[in-house]
Order: sequence, then structure tokens, then C-alpha cells
Amino acid sequence: MRLRFQILFSVLGITFLAQAVFGLLAYRELTESRGDQLTIFLQYLTREIAERLTLPGNPDKAERHLEELRKKFSTAQSVLLIQKDDRIVYIAGAEGLNRADILPGLKSAYSDSDKHGMIDLEGIQFYWAVSQLPNNEYELIMLEPAGDNEDRITSALRMRLVSSGFVILWMAVWVSLILSSKISRQLDEKNDQLEHLALHDNLTGLPNRRLLTDRLEQLLRQSQRSKEPFALLLIDLDRFKEINDTLGHPFGDEILKRVSSRLLKSIREEDSIARLGGDEFAVLLPQTDLQGSELCVNRIMHSMNAPFRINDVSTESKASIGIALYPEHGESADVLMQYADVAMYQAKKAQSGYAVYDNSQNTYSVRRLQLMNDLRDAVEKNEIHVHYQPMIDNATQQVTGVETLARWQHPVLGNITPDEFITMAEQTGQIRLLTMQVLEQALKDCSAWEKLGYHLGVSINLSTYCLQDLSLPEEINSIIQRYDVDVADVELEITEGALMHDLSRAGKILDQLGNMGLQLAIDDFGTGFSSLNYLKNLPVATLKIDKSFILDMCDSESDNAIVKTIIELGHNLGCRVVAEGIENQRTLDSLKLLNVDTMQGFFYSKPLPADRLFAWLIEHDKQVSVSEEISSA
Ligand code: C2E
Ligand code: CA
Ligand code: CA
Repeated sequence: MRLRFQILFSVLGITFLAQAVFGLLAYRELTESRGDQLTIFLQYLTREIAERLTLPGNPDKAERHLEELRKKFSTAQSVLLIQKDDRIVYIAGAEGLNRADILPGLKSAYSDSDKHGMIDLEGIQFYWAVSQLPNNEYELIMLEPAGDNEDRITSALRMRLVSSGFVILWMAVWVSLILSSKISRQLDEKNDQLEHLALHDNLTGLPNRRLLTDRLEQLLRQSQRSKEPFALLLIDLDRFKEINDTLGHPFGDEILKRVSSRLLKSIREEDSIARLGGDEFAVLLPQTDLQGSELCVNRIMHSMNAPFRINDVSTESKASIGIALYPEHGESADVLMQYADVAMYQAKKAQSGYAVYDNSQNTYSVRRLQLMNDLRDAVEKNEIHVHYQPMIDNATQQVTGVETLARWQHPVLGNITPDEFITMAEQTGQIRLLTMQVLEQALKDCSAWEKLGYHLGVSINLSTYCLQDLSLPEEINSIIQRYDVDVADVELEITEGALMHDLSRAGKILDQLGNMGLQLAIDDFGTGFSSLNYLKNLPVATLKIDKSFILDMCDSESDNAIVKTIIELGHNLGCRVVAEGIENQRTLDSLKLLNVDTMQGFFYSKPLPADRLFAWLIEHDKQVSVSEEISSA
């Protein structure tokens, strides 16, 4: 609207200015031409009366004729005179002027060359024009007050200016209105485009986090007035990072687009959906309670069942969904977003597809946020310490090595399980530093035991995230060099799932680590999706059977069969097979029969700090020699 007025006023301003300039020019043109007009008139008079005036006996007639013509063609105030030898021989219409002053005044004003001009006679401006009568010495002079003429000019101009002004003004108003509406329409379109860009996600075209927050707040106000419930869903794709890393970002982008169109098809018209970033989406369901939101969630989960087929590659990506309800769970946008996030995290952890926010776990998210913060500090201050769990050779009962397990004693919350803080370290990007600190402590202790007569291998757990970093082998190498430990005594445990993330990159790093002489172990074997192909191609030295099979192997035939199969498979591939999670003698005996290579579990020892492990080692040695003595006796 402001722009319209600006355009209107500027066009009007230009119009008025143009009118004024045009008027001035016209005025000048008219006043200047008045002298020419007078001259032409005089020439005409001259032609008309010359003969009559110069013929003897005719002056009277001539004078009358002159007077008629003067009145006819000029104003009442104009003066017409004829002079000869600086004497006035005829004068008409010089009322109010001193006739004696006219000729001297005129003489000073005109020269031979000028035929017309302006003079001041007794304070009045006059146009003058002069014409020589042919063949004699008479001169015909005409004077006309400029004021009269100007009045006529201005009134003539005014009329024209007013009428043309109206027309131009009318046109200007229309032009400016058309112009301004066109420009403001273009600006509106540009504005709309910019606003759309600022409030929508480029890839999927869905509203972004900002727009969702606006809508959420609007819905909150509406629902507070109408006292109606609504639901907020947070959706996170499972395995998306893996897909992105393995199949490339363009593939990942295509999946996101398809997910967004599947989500759009699963919601009602009045619901709104947004992409919050990465593989995270949100859905707002107005006038919806728990039952309604579960219906919608089921539709979404159903829509995600079908695999995504892109360029002949078919892949699956399920979603984990968190539900937070208004007013039941919270009455502010921030709280609802946070609780939906907590619920989504719970769904992901439980692999349940979806979870409704649980009020009884109210401290959960606060605790998680606090822990994440504190963990960052703890890692930076090198406050994560390690415990070691012995690994015992089946044949000799000697301790061949230890598994290094990270521990974090929170100053207020006490012991935090590695399952909890390792995931957090992966999420906050601290895992790399943490892993190197763990490795460093382990190598330091390992070289200390060596000096005390215990040659032990150390196993370190390596997170998936570390396997994405191409500089990892170099860094590990420099730490090993620093502690003068034999590389062959260092084993890296990688979970089976980790290998699936980005086999090409992880494979390259693992090859490098293998070439450096490090041992590689596949951890939690049996739970992932390992293919025999990568076992054959990667420099894997050890398979660690997942403890879930070991824990139940005495009571579950299938677990027993799995353990047996893994041991055979490992041996066929030339790998050492480790059984972890041995909690009792029965399990130990079964494993001995199955010919497993290495034993680990609470039955031998829980993970222990370095000093207690050393005491344990001495005690264990004693027991082994006693039993050796008994068996030899
Ligand atoms: P993991 O690598 O499978 O480690 C073995 C886990 O089984 C350890 O749990 C250990 O205490 C436990 N365990 C050993 N023997 C028995 C047994 O007889 N019975 C039972 N019930 N459990 C037994 P922990 O120390 O809580 O570690 C849990 C997981 O945290 C580890 O599983 C590993 O995945 C991760 N983790 C621990 N430290 C690190 C680390 O430094 N880096 C990385 N990336 N992950 C780590
Ligand atoms: Ca392990
Ligand atoms: Ca394990």
C-alpha cells in the first residue's frame, strides 16, 4: 500500500512539474511572439494606409481608417502613432501618457535594426513595434501595454493548462495505478517466494522447523480457546545414515522425497507435516487424542512398509515415531517438542515403531541433556577411565588378554553404563577422542604389566563412527608407537552392524589396520547381518559370539545350535572364536566341549580396574598351577 502511494505521488509530481515547465515555455513563446505579431500587424496597417496617408487631402480619411483598425486589432490601451523627423504627426489612444515623452523614450529603446521590443514609459511596460512607410520618411509605431497582453496570455494559458492538466492528471493517475499495481504484484510474488524459501525445506518442499513452530504455537492458542486436544508426532527414519553412507547422498535425498510423499498421503488435509532436518520429520494433528494419533501412526508405519525402489536398488527404511499429546503431556511448544523427541528416542531404543511420551519418565530427557553436557566435559578432561575383563584360553586356562571397557563415574549421578554414554558420545561426536583415550590408557597399562612379567593382549572396542574417519589408522599407530607395545597384541573389536554402514570406507580402514599388524575381531557376532563374503575378504582374526546366545545356551537349544555353528564357521574361516558372557560352570563346560578358543565372562571375572586386575591375575595364576598340579598328580 505504501508503495502504491509512493508511485502515485511521484507520477503526480512528475506530471505537475512537466505541466509547470510546459506552461513556462508556452508563456515565453507567447510573450516573445507578441512583438512579432505587432510587427506583422503594423506591416499590414502600413500597406493599408500608406497611400491614403501620403496623398494630400487624405490625412483625415487615413486617420479615421487608422483609428478603426487600431480599435479593431488592438486593445483600448494601445497607442498608435506616426512620426516624421522626430515629430508626432498622428497619435491615437495615449490616454494617461505624457505624449511629449513618448518619442524620446522610444528613440532610446529602438535602433535601426530592431523592429520591436519592450520599453518602460512612466512605469508601464509596453511592447513596441515600428514599421517604415514605403517611399517616404513616415514611421508607423505601435505601443501596447504588456500587462494587458500578459493578462490575456495567462488567461488563455490558464484555460489550456487547466483543461490539458485535467486530461494529463487523469492519465497520470491511471498510469500510476496500473504501474503500482503491477510492481506491487511483482514484489508480492517475490516476497511470497522468499517467504516460501525461508519457511520450507528445499529438498522436499515441506514446511521447515520454523514454520512448524509457528503452526504449533498457533494450534496451541486455538486449542487453548476451544479446549480441544492435539497431537505432535516426531518421526525419525531408521538406518538412514547407513543408507546415505552406503548408497550415496543422491540416493538418500530420493528416499527423503519419497518418505515425505508417503507421509503426506498418510495424513488428513487439516494435519500439517514438516521436515525438521536430516531424516527427522514432524506431524501436527489438530483435534486428535491418543486414539486418533495411534491411528495416524499406524497409517504412517504401514506406508513405510513397502521398500523404496530407486534405480533398480531396493531398500527398506522404517521409522521410529514419538507421540506427545496436548494438553496431557504439556502445554507449551517447547515442552511438547522435547517430549515427542524423548518418546521417539524410546521408540528407537525399543525398536517398537512408535512410543507415546511416558510421564513417569519425566526426568529422562532432562537427565539425558544434562548427561550429554557433562560427558563432553568428562571426555575433554580425560575423566573416562577403563576396566579390564580377562580373556582366558580354553586349552591352557591362561589369561591371554583383556577386553578394555570404558567407565564413567558421574560426580552426582554415579556410575553411568557404557551403553548409555557411548551412544551419547557417538551422537555428540566425542567418540573419537574417547576411543583414543581408552586406547592410550590400555596401552599404558599393558606396557606396565609387561614389565611385571604379564604379557597380555588388549582388546579395544571401536565404534562405527570411528570407522568413517580415514585418519584413524595413523592416529592409532602413533599411540602404539608411544607405548612401545607390539601391534600384534592390540585387537580392535568392531560390532557386526558397524560393517554394514559403509563397507567400502570401513573396509578400506580395516584393511589398513590389518596391514599395520593389528588384530581385528567381529564383536556381538550373530546379531548383525554379516555376509560370509566380507568375513572372507576382511582381515578378521577373531569372532566374538554375542553374549545373548552364550547366556541362554544351556537352556535354549536354538542358542546352543547357533553357538555351535558359529564356532565351526569361525574355525573353518581360520578365526579364533571367543565366547563372552560365561556366567556359570555349566556354560563353561558346554563351551569347552564345543572347542571354543577363548572364554570371557563374569564366571571368571567382572571387568576390573587395572590394579585389581593385577591382583586377580596373580590369584588366577595360583589357581591354574594348583589345578595343573592336581591333574598331573
Ligand atoms: P561389549 O563390547 O559387548 O562388551 C561386553 C559387555 O558384556 C560388557 O558390558 C561386559 O561387562 C559385559 N559382560 C561381560 N561378561 C559378562 C557376563 O558374564 N554376563 C553379563 N551379563 N555381561 C557380561 P559393559 O562394560 O557394560 O559394556 C557394554 C557395551 O558398551 C560394550 O559391549 C561395548 O559395546 C560398549 N563399550 C564399552 N566400552 C567401550 C569403549 O571403550 N568403546 C566403545 N566403542 N564401546 C564401548
Ligand atoms: Ca566388545
Ligand atoms: Ca560383545
